[in-house]
Amino acid sequence: MNFAQLTGRSEEHLCVFEDDFKIYKPIEKDLCSFLSSIRQAGFDAQLASSYRSFDRQLLIWNEKAEGKRPLFDPLGNELDYNKLSEEKILQSMLYWSAIPGTSRHHWGTDFDLYDAAGFQDQKLKLLNCEYENDGPCAAMTQFIAKNPSVFFRPYQGSKLIQEEKWHYSHRHFSLQFFQLYDYQVFEKNIQMATQLAFRDYLLSNCLKFYQAIQNSVTL
Ligand SMILES: [Zn+2]
Repeated sequence: MNFAQLTGRSEEHLCVFEDDFKIYKPIEKDLCSFLSSIRQAGFDAQLASSYRSFDRQLLIWNEKAEGKRPLFDPLGNELDYNKLSEEKILQSMLYWSAIPGTSRHHWGTDFDLYDAAGFQDQKLKLLNCEYENDGPCAAMTQFIAKNPSVFFRPYQGSKLIQEEKWHYSHRHFSLQFFQLYDYQVFEKNIQMATQLAFRDYLLSNCLKFYQAIQNSVTL
């Protein structure tokens, strides 16, 4: 894996999956069996997203920084952009969005999953409440938790990054990417991202952010 593949600047390592998605080629077989076993149990398991490029993540990030996309607190409540300090804006962005070039979605080993059967009349929002209690994805989430596979949930909640009950990752291959993603990669990625909102602030606190992000992942 090279720098470009680790940071969403290359698609060489990917293949197309179920027409609309790109994934890391070596996980294809495992993903097929994972989805089949969930579907056979009666759930309409569908990907909401898988690979996402650096440029796509940059667009999302910068629009959030400019108040063009909603920001949410750790419970998923929308925040009033105009009342937030710069520091609070960055903090609330990091709850739910990765810094471009640091998203696990760049690797193609990670994807967001939902049970489409519960979304005939409503739109998927990717909120934890959709995956808990009597939420439309709750039963599927319980089924996955009870049936161990090669996929796991890396975001189980930390001070910096909130729990994401929809996000799954191929344990073996994502661990390889994770271990290759060292501080040099992190710093170079932000240095290269000249259009990145909060770039100067991130660069002047680079080691702190690298450590906090790495420690936010449950392995
Ligand atoms: Zn995700």
